[in-house]
Amino acid sequence: YESLSVGELANKLGREPSEIIKKLFMLGVMATINQELDKDAIELICADYGVEVEEEIRIDVTDLEIYFEEDEVVEETQTERPPVVTIMGHVDHGKTTLLDSIRDTKVTQGEAGGITQHIGAYQVEVEGKKITFLDTPGHAAFTTMRARGAKVTDITILVVAADDGVMPQTIEAINHAKAAEVPIIVAVNKMDKPSANPDRVMQELTEHGLLAEAWGGDTIFVPISALKGEGINQLLEMVLLVAEVGELKASKNIRARGTVIEAQLDRGRGSVATLLVQDGTLRIGDPIVVGNTFGKVRAMINDLGRRVKEAGPSTPVEITGLSDVPQAGDRFVVFEDEKTARQIGESRAGEALQEQRVEKTRVTLDNLFEQM
Ligand code: GDP
Ligand code: MG
Repeated sequence: YESLSVGELANKLGREPSEIIKKLFMLGVMATINQELDKDAIELICADYGVEVEEEIRIDVTDLEIYFEEDEVVEETQTERPPVVTIMGHVDHGKTTLLDSIRDTKVTQGEAGGITQHIGAYQVEVEGKKITFLDTPGHAAFTTMRARGAKVTDITILVVAADDGVMPQTIEAINHAKAAEVPIIVAVNKMDKPSANPDRVMQELTEHGLLAEAWGGDTIFVPISALKGEGINQLLEMVLLVAEVGELKASKNIRARGTVIEAQLDRGRGSVATLLVQDGTLRIGDPIVVGNTFGKVRAMINDLGRRVKEAGPSTPVEITGLSDVPQAGDRFVVFEDEKTARQIGESRAGEALQEQRVEKTRVTLDNLFEQM
């Protein structure tokens, strides 16, 4: 720990704060219960109790998080932004089919060629409003992103096959969404099958806290057939409705920040990362720190495979120009000048490397004393 208060340390050690204060006094330090202790003091006390201090690994999100939450976001400049939707559900219940169906019915309309690029996310337009879908496998997206402290999803569509009902991964998905406080819309899929039993799905989901509107609850259920493309429009309308209730806002005119959806090393193009812009506008040439790497946005490609010059809130975009490959769930932040971006990027990269070493050797007070 970089710093702890006397009270917090006492708590961790399972001792009375007064005892710690006494010990500090013996060491010549006058302290109160709320006083912050530095690393050395913490180590001294712990050593006294024969407790090992393990270096806590926390560089990754913390530093960038400061910029991420930066209070530069002035309310007046905020405007409505598209919702970011993740599709979850049990295996074979139709997640991929639904994602394809939504894309086919919406994205290719009026798009010359209609060739869609797989960048891990795409946008559709419904009634003049945009919706962003993450098409990385829902559960993985949720677990890796959440494990790294990133919140990207505004709404979850829970796909449940009407001929199969609630299954283990259905429940897992509900738990993920609840933990992240993300609203759930239930898509009761495979309604075209003769064995479809939507009432059973509704019944089973009540046991997991999802009570259908039709039954007096507040969970929206939409019967669909992802395979036949039926009910897709109603489902998308419900997404817009839930988004409206959530009052999702962002500012277009601040420096962009957001999260890495996926990234890989491309032979020809180098480090390629799909970013979800969550606030601000990302532009070509922007100096950027992405996780533990940095660079200048060289080229941007949207979900239709087109080169674009800028990307606003809730827009997924693939970029090149980073010095290294970041990880899914990493935060990114644009900086005013390249020098700052380079400095922060390099120091984060250096720290990350150091943390890896620390992790390997795991310095404890005991082996420190052995060396002395
Ligand atoms: P995932 O594992 O959740 O991504 O499920 P898939 O989208 O791969 O679908 C699993 C199987 O269910 C595939 O054979 C699909 O063709 C089929 N399927 C998906 N949606 C429907 C549907 O609405 N009706 C019917 N009859 N089959 C469907
Ligand atoms: Mg699938």
